[in-house]
Amino acid sequence: MYKAPRGTADILPKDQPYWRYVEGKAVQICQLCGYQRIDTPVFEDARLFVRSIGDETDIVKKEMYTFEDRSGANMTLRPEGTAAVCRAYLEHGMHNLPQPVKLYYISPIFRYERPQAGRYRQHHQFGYEAIGDLDPALDAEIIDMAWQFYTSLGLQGFYLKLNSIGCPKCRPKYIEELRRHYTPYRGQLCRDCQIRLVKNPLRLLDCKQDSCQPAANSAPHSVDYLCNECSDHFNRLQRYLDLLEIPFQVTHRLVRGFDYYTKTVFEIQPEEEGAQSALGGGGRYDGLIEELGGRPTPAIGFAAGIERVILNIKKQTIAAPLISPPDVFVAYVGQEAKEKALKLVAQLRKRGIGTTAPFGDKSLRSQLRQANALGASQTLIIGEEEMQTDTVLLRDMMKGEQRREALESVLNLLRKGQPPSP
Ligand code: AMP
Repeated sequence: MYKAPRGTADILPKDQPYWRYVEGKAVQICQLCGYQRIDTPVFEDARLFVRSIGDETDIVKKEMYTFEDRSGANMTLRPEGTAAVCRAYLEHGMHNLPQPVKLYYISPIFRYERPQAGRYRQHHQFGYEAIGDLDPALDAEIIDMAWQFYTSLGLQGFYLKLNSIGCPKCRPKYIEELRRHYTPYRGQLCRDCQIRLVKNPLRLLDCKQDSCQPAANSAPHSVDYLCNECSDHFNRLQRYLDLLEIPFQVTHRLVRGFDYYTKTVFEIQPEEEGAQSALGGGGRYDGLIEELGGRPTPAIGFAAGIERVILNIKKQTIAAPLISPPDVFVAYVGQEAKEKALKLVAQLRKRGIGTTAPFGDKSLRSQLRQANALGASQTLIIGEEEMQTDTVLLRDMMKGEQRREALESVLNLLRKGQPPSP
């Protein structure tokens, strides 16, 4: 027996209401805020991600699904959403549009991770980006949208972690201080951190290993090393968040997993969970578009993990609206009746009335059982007698009552979403 690959999941019909609910709220918030949808290919040139995310990050070093296609080109299944949006922004000349350009996406993301609760090899993200302006008011808008998104879903008990990791002007000084601080701890650090100390010191702060906590907890804070521009940006962002009444915690160890971030980084976290459970996160990436060959173009974005959001919705027993079943189920007895049923089903559907039929050759009893299980409100039954009299039995599934009607009039009786009046 084949199984879904490790770390992936089928989204079964019983879970679809949660998915439609979350995606519906995502689209709603983006439309409300003037963000337009973009869909990019599931795979891209591997170099796009290596260049954007950074070749010393865990994602690029250990987690990308990269394959050679039949022409020998290296392709990678999208491991995050931002790089492809920036590639599309450049490729389609969006820098010529009024800035900032505001885009959103909902898409699968692939990372070869160790699967566990809330961590998969294929997950889905809802994300959005505002490309083309440096104003911290945009940072505030992006964070506010995330806040409104979780709130609109009915989620409670989440909080905002905020930090600034500076820019290429001020960060080198901070990195130097970080290295100086960590060096005496070198012998105690995990193997990954020993490498990070040399290759990517900022990521030291993100390590969850016990042996690395003393060094990380006492490390210098990036906000104390910001240049005037970054410091002013961070101060203004905090003022704007106060204005929008969004509470936040400045979290000095928040650095996030991509090298492209500059200045603002943030994450939304459920209160009672550990550090592996962020509901979403984002930040500024003012150098990325230029890195990809464009003009200097500041930008900021956010992405939420849809599986994590749904896990929390379920944990908080929030009910997702049901997806309505078809209004009408057509059952029949015998081959001739089946032909009539086939035609009736098509006629009802043409009128916009949601209709289903089992087809196959099941007994009437089992067809009715199926109609019940599907939750159809009306069942139309064509049996022998109905064939002879050109009628159908109209059965109200809720009341369990039924009556015979002329086939002609049934089509007019049934109106979308309305039970037929007797
Ligand atoms: P990131 O792209 O790493 O900033 O992740 C954005 C959000 O996607 C995170 O806050 C999580 O909610 C979610 N996420 C990231 N990685 C995974 C994963 N492997 N499985 C499930 N959700 C994930």
